[in-house]
Amino acid sequence: MPTPSTAPRPRPRTRSAAAPARPGRHRRRGVAALTVLATLAVGCSALRTQDPAPAPDRAAAPTAPAAPPADAQAAGAQAAGAAPAAQAQAQAQAQAQARAALAAMPAARPQAAAGQELNGRVSAAEHELALQQSLAAAHRWGLAALPLRPPAPPAVKPELADGPGVKRAPGLPPVVYRVPTTDKVVFLTVDDGAEKDPQFAAMAAELGVPMTAFLSDYLARSDYGYFRTLQAHGVTIDNHTLTHPDLRRLGPDALQREICGQQDRLQQETGTRPRLFRPPYGEYTEAALRTAASCGVTAFPLWNEEAFPDHLEWRYADQKFHPGDIVLTHFRAPAADWKGTMPDMLRRVVDAATAQGFAIARLEDYL
Ligand SMILES: [Zn+2]
Repeated sequence: MPTPSTAPRPRPRTRSAAAPARPGRHRRRGVAALTVLATLAVGCSALRTQDPAPAPDRAAAPTAPAAPPADAQAAGAQAAGAAPAAQAQAQAQAQAQARAALAAMPAARPQAAAGQELNGRVSAAEHELALQQSLAAAHRWGLAALPLRPPAPPAVKPELADGPGVKRAPGLPPVVYRVPTTDKVVFLTVDDGAEKDPQFAAMAAELGVPMTAFLSDYLARSDYGYFRTLQAHGVTIDNHTLTHPDLRRLGPDALQREICGQQDRLQQETGTRPRLFRPPYGEYTEAALRTAASCGVTAFPLWNEEAFPDHLEWRYADQKFHPGDIVLTHFRAPAADWKGTMPDMLRRVVDAATAQGFAIARLEDYL
C-alpha cells in the first residue's frame, strides 16, 4: 500500500460534509413522509410487491454514469434559505428526483425494512420515507442498485483461531485477512488519511456504508475534524501509526512511540481508544504485535482485496468477494495511479459487492 508522497491537497469544504443539513428533521418528518407517500404512491405499491433479494443478474445491470450531486445540493441549499415559491420549486424538484430514482433503480428494498412490522400510519410513512431516501441517495451517487443491508451483527464474534484467513500465535493479537464467517458480508477499510474529500464524507453519510479508517497521524493531523465528521456518521477510527514507518526496522522504543503514541493521539482526537491496528505496508513483527497488545490493540486486520477508483484488485483467481473479506483502500486524491475520486472508488466497491450479493458490514461488529 503506497504512501502518498504529496501533501494533502486543500479542497473546499461543503456544507454537506461539515454539517449535513437536515433542518427540523424530526419535527417535519411525519408531514414530509406523508407528502412523499402521496407523491410516490404508485411507485411504492410497485416496490412492495418485489422480492427483496438481489436479482441474480444484477452484475449485468448497466452501470449508471457517475452522477455528481451538484443538482441535489443546489436544491437543498435553495430550500434552506429561500422564499416560499423557491421552496415549492425545490420540493417539486426533489420529488421529481425521487420519482426518477424509482424509475431508474432496479427493484430492491432494504432487508431490515422488508421484515419490519409496521404500526400505524406514521411509522408506515417513515418506513416509506426511509426507503425513498435510500433509493434517492443511491441514485444521486450513481449506484447501479440499492446497496444490500448487512445482517444483524453476530451475537458472538467469530473465534479467531489460526487457520485460513487468520494468523495467530499464542498470546498475541490475531492477524486477520478474512474474518471467519458465513455471512455474505465484506468490510471496507480506508487507510492513511491524506485526502479529506467532503464529497466522500457526504456520500458515505447518505449511503450509510460502514467503514473503518486506519489513520496515520502525520497525514490525518491537518484536519482531524474531517475524520470526526466521518466518525459521527458511523465510520470507526483505528490506528495506523504516527508516521507510517516499516515496523520491521524499529526498536522497542520506536515501536512503543509509533503504535501506542497513535493510540493516545486518536483517543485524544476522537474520544475513543482504538482496538484495531493496521501495520503500514502490511508488515509487522512479533515485537510489534506484543507492543500493540500492551496498549489496547486486540487485532491486526490486513486485507484480501484492494479498491481503486477504476478497478478492484482481487485476492483470488475467481475475482470475487468471499464472506468476511477485508477490502483495503486509501484516502487518496486523483493521481496517475489513482484514476478518479474517492466517490468513484466507493461506488465501485459498493456496486461490486451488491452485484455479487454481498453487503458491506462493520468490521468492529465481527472483530
Ligand atoms: Zn498506509
